Amino acid sequence: MEAENIKPWLFRVQPYQGESLSHFLGRFRQANDLTPTGLGKAAGLGGAIARWEKFRFNPPLSQQQLEALAVVVGVDVDRLVQTLPPAGVGMKMEPIRLCAACYIKSPCHKIEWQLKVMQGCDRHKLSLLSECPNCGARFKFPALWVDGWCQRCFMTFADMATHQKYY
Ligand SMILES: [Zn+2]
Ligand SMILES: [Zn+2]
Repeated sequence: MEAENIKPWLFRVQPYQGESLSHFLGRFRQANDLTPTGLGKAAGLGGAIARWEKFRFNPPLSQQQLEALAVVVGVDVDRLVQTLPPAGVGMKMEPIRLCAACYIKSPCHKIEWQLKVMQGCDRHKLSLLSECPNCGARFKFPALWVDGWCQRCFMTFADMATHQKYY
């Protein structure tokens, strides 16, 4: 499925390196002022968008669903697959985790942070945060990370980097 089949009235958003599907869908929806239900309708995917934004990948995305989503968001299926956990690799739906040092470089939630095998960020050798170090609030699903700060105390994700510990 080629990206040129994109609906011409929608803004395109390119996934960042390693970005999770939830975070990508949130950015795409915000750029286009769409709710999960609205995007589901545009793609003919019903309630699946809301489930995927919460990392509910059971049942896994079918090839048909991936192709339908690819057309609407204007991103190739191969690229969309990279926003999902690799096949056969276990992931945690919660808590949502963050390497703030990575976020400074690339402001997105990375799918690798939710993999069960990840004990910390390999790049920075830092432990992942699973709550706001300032107020203890859990992170929301990445589709809701648009502002880039804790929804309770407004500490920015970037500022949380000094609270990560080396492991
Ligand atoms: Zn990192
Ligand atoms: Zn907070």
